[in-house]
Amino acid sequence: MIEECIFCKISKKEIKSEIIYEDEDFVVFKDINPQAPIHLLLIPKIHIENISRISLESVKNFNRIFSVIKEVTEKLGVDKDGYRVVVNNGKNAGQEVNHLHFHILAGRKFSWPPG
Ligand code: 5GP
Ligand code: ZN
Repeated sequence: MIEECIFCKISKKEIKSEIIYEDEDFVVFKDINPQAPIHLLLIPKIHIENISRISLESVKNFNRIFSVIKEVTEKLGVDKDGYRVVVNNGKNAGQEVNHLHFHILAGRKFSWPPG
């Protein structure tokens, strides 16, 4: 854990959040500043800055992210109407929290291309 990382603290319950899914590797919680009726953040419990920092050896541990997204969106009933998954990776993408996170957005239509 990186001492001051806000998402490490959320995964360790040192900072309060509305957790809606948790297993031994991942946590899904509500974004504090939602950009859609449903706006969740999926994070690995281990601290990794972003996709660029995932090593080739550990990449296989991340393939379960897709089943977590599938499970959570099905549970919330947004899989039929659709949803958007976003990873802001690094400076040009506007990543603000340097702990890998997948935004899961649902409950409205989203435009394309992104801003
Ligand atoms: P980024 O711009 O890094 O892709 O997104 C960071 C996201 O984390 C933002 O959507 C922001 O609202 C969310 N966020 C930042 N701090 C907190 C917090 O303390 N709790 C929760 N639940 N979300 C946070
Ligand atoms: Zn962290």
